[in-house]
Amino acid sequence: MKIICVTRNYKQHALELNNKIPTELIFFLKPETAIPIKGQPFFIPDFSNEIHYELEVVIKINKTGKHIQERFAHKYFDELSLGIDFTARDLQSKLKKMSFPWEMSKSFDGSAPIGFFVKKQEFKDINNLNFELTVNNDIKQSGNTKNMIFSFNHIISYVSKYITLKKGDLIFTGTPKGVGKVRKNDFLIGKIEGKQIIQIKIK
Ligand code: MG
Repeated sequence: MKIICVTRNYKQHALELNNKIPTELIFFLKPETAIPIKGQPFFIPDFSNEIHYELEVVIKINKTGKHIQERFAHKYFDELSLGIDFTARDLQSKLKKMSFPWEMSKSFDGSAPIGFFVKKQEFKDINNLNFELTVNNDIKQSGNTKNMIFSFNHIISYVSKYITLKKGDLIFTGTPKGVGKVRKNDFLIGKIEGKQIIQIKIK
């Protein structure tokens, strides 16, 4: 199983980190060990002083596919959830400056907690889903999937040109604006259309 993450899929988030609006999709991978053991809190790693949350809609691939055409892409996922793409922003900035890959800042253990999955059909329109993150009851991020630069179907089609998708693979589809630093004892809750999907304590 692999975790594929799309970068800069919401215009306002690209701008908040002083990045250009992408014209082509860029993605990176996290290993299986990025998923924490069920029920465990997120432990701030000692190599970073600036761990950011990035709340993202996550889709789960339901069958093997390679070179999937965009018009058939919807058949490759039945369920979605919310995940947090935890990022060591300080380490990422350092690596970016040196023009090195910034995988290390994204792929560490526990960096990809994911909530429970909901069937697509339970939502009226998955391309118009409101989702939000609260930290200690303050709303920090709120997004809508209609504002994605690259749609779910485009992501599946595009990624499968490079990497064969397999059943159980997870795709993080990008974060809206409002990313920020987590601190010890923060409590994060992610909701889709008001429904609580993920909660995580920071330690
Ligand atoms: Mg992200």
